[in-house]
Amino acid sequence: MPQVQQPTYADTERLTWVLNRLGEMPPLVFAGECDELRERIANVADRRAFMLQGGDCAETFDGLRADNIKAKLRVLLSMSVVLTYAAQVPVVKVGRIAGQYAKPRSKDTETRRGVTLPAYRGDAVNGFDFTPESRRHDPDRLMRMYNASAATLNLVRAFVTGGFADIRHLHAWNASFVQDSRIEHRYEQMAGEIERALGFMMACGVNDDTLSVVDFYASHEALLLDYEHAMTRIDSRSHLPYATSGHMIWIGERTRQPQGAQVELLRRVTNPLGVKLGPGATGADAVEIAERLDPDRVPGRVTFITRMGADKVREKLPPIIEAVEKTGRKVAWVCDPMHGNTFETANGYKTRSYAAVVEELNGFFDVHDRLGTWPGGVHVELTGDDVTECLGGAFHLSEADLDSRYETACDPRLNRSQSLELAFMIAERLNQSRELRREPLQVPDWND
Ligand code: PEP
Ligand code: MN
Repeated sequence: MPQVQQPTYADTERLTWVLNRLGEMPPLVFAGECDELRERIANVADRRAFMLQGGDCAETFDGLRADNIKAKLRVLLSMSVVLTYAAQVPVVKVGRIAGQYAKPRSKDTETRRGVTLPAYRGDAVNGFDFTPESRRHDPDRLMRMYNASAATLNLVRAFVTGGFADIRHLHAWNASFVQDSRIEHRYEQMAGEIERALGFMMACGVNDDTLSVVDFYASHEALLLDYEHAMTRIDSRSHLPYATSGHMIWIGERTRQPQGAQVELLRRVTNPLGVKLGPGATGADAVEIAERLDPDRVPGRVTFITRMGADKVREKLPPIIEAVEKTGRKVAWVCDPMHGNTFETANGYKTRSYAAVVEELNGFFDVHDRLGTWPGGVHVELTGDDVTECLGGAFHLSEADLDSRYETACDPRLNRSQSLELAFMIAERLNQSRELRREPLQVPDWND
């Protein structure tokens, strides 16, 4: 079947060796965990939960450091607390993490000062440095991706179950951050309210495990067919195939051809799947993809991640939602307000403005509110560090500021305060959406 966006390796013998070895390595995630996430996403599709998916555009091998991973988790958990407390909605937390090492590119090559080399395709494929050696597609990088994913996941698992994520330590997550923006103040204030409420509960004798452990899942774009295929395992209980490279995997905007190899591979694994839909997608496209990936209509199987752009979302999104809903299918609708809003500044940085991100999200909520469908989640590129990659936000970052800390290996990410600010904005809109439906708060199925 037609394959697009795949690496080309000169040393095919080495590739075969690496893939065989990967096929023997232990799984990174387990079938039962993938099923659990699928059930949670079914709650999103069923209007009972909200999905927060976020992390780097591209993880890098250099970025594999405890402080970096911890900061990312901290911002995601903080956002989730804002959403849970301010919008009173259960949040399904999914990182773009522990596997997000491969990037689709719109051009195969990059030219600098008359020199043309293969484009950077993520650390899983080649290096970021602009030299022929670094840009060569290297099969050994697949093994490094596996190892880096394993190390990341190991730390994530320790953090989310080992007490770090305990909601009763909410203030500690924030302690090392400068408290000098209105957003941090707002967050601190809310954390204080939550602590008082928790204190009240504990004084009443309520004190159970759900406060100390959070559920957090790993996801990435399943771009590299060789790697994903090698990481597929047959579950010993159900005898079904699972991608064990991550809990949820998604198909990008450039590789979602219904008859293409990517869809063919992913339709055969049992994991929950995401599909990116850009402004070129039609309702018929979405229905065809859903039908191909999920003929049995398994609840939670399909999440559509729409990324239309702030100026197109109001026009392009409604016909897609209407076409899918007309089939009677229940999917999770998630908004990626990042990828339709990228542009290059005069000083040469790829960026996005915080205002455009908010505008696309407002469009997404408006459309769902009008159609009576559930705005099920958000998918963002963010980091826990104070980078200067996206314009605007609480610190009013300008084009000139991008120079000071622009570190992404691919697309620009929201920094910590921009991410927190966005969480408050989303919480407000979610509250409105709920009020509009006059639906009582529903308890999701997973509270057993
Ligand atoms: C991405 O998520 O980094 C990405 C490349 O997205 P899309 O497939 O939507 O362009
Ligand atoms: Mn990206």
